[in-house]
Amino acid sequence: MERTGRLFNIQKFSINDGPGIRTTVFFKGCPLQCRWCSNPESQNRYASIADAMEDETYCGRDYTVAEVMAEVVKDKPFYDQSGGGMTMSGGEVLQQAEFAADLADAAHEAGIHVAVETTGFAVPERFREFLSHVDLLLYDFKHVDREIHQANTGVPNDVILENLATAVSSGKQVIARIPVIPKFNSSLGAAAAMADRLAALGVQEVHLLPFHQFGEKKYEQLGVEYAMQGVKQLHPEVLENYRKVYLDRGLNCSFK
Ligand code: SF4
Repeated sequence: MERTGRLFNIQKFSINDGPGIRTTVFFKGCPLQCRWCSNPESQNRYASIADAMEDETYCGRDYTVAEVMAEVVKDKPFYDQSGGGMTMSGGEVLQQAEFAADLADAAHEAGIHVAVETTGFAVPERFREFLSHVDLLLYDFKHVDREIHQANTGVPNDVILENLATAVSSGKQVIARIPVIPKFNSSLGAAAAMADRLAALGVQEVHLLPFHQFGEKKYEQLGVEYAMQGVKQLHPEVLENYRKVYLDRGLNCSFK
């Protein structure tokens, strides 16, 4: 039987998920539960609350590689003109690593660049094997402190840091993506600790993603309590000193 993957969205014309114009394929299911998650519908692969809503946007559906590729190849002329391609995002792509590898291989066969956005929370052997299937990693990095990371995302960061080191030493292009979250990692001290760690690992590029409230409505729709209710959004203008911390360590750092 043909392998399938459960996805919750295929988004065309993405410009913030890697270089150029891209199609972003969103995998459903995530081992983390970040307090600020703006895609709460992505967390459970077979979400019962979401399924009850009978809305494909929330419960997702199973796709074959051929079905996804039929959508992805439509925009190949845009990828070719802009230096874009396909990005696999989530949720956590590596929870469906075999399907993701097949999809990446199919994209490469069609001459399409492949990026993956990952939490890095995956079995190291599986992560190492998966690296060979992608061109670029957009690697989420949230906090260096193990306990603070666990309290705010539901998981410790040991394996995330281990896999990040593996990714960098593999020679693949790695961009660290840091969600800047109030009362979690938005202090200059937290930034310094993360910047030091990234520089020591050999990461060269960092994207900062200031906290926003785009997901608020989804919590309402899902009937799930939202931990960041009423917390003010952050804007790049107020995070220039934060960015400078990374620049001072020689990291190429920009807002997304
Ligand atoms: S890693 Fe991303 S998708 Fe998963 S819970 Fe955190 S913010 Fe949401």
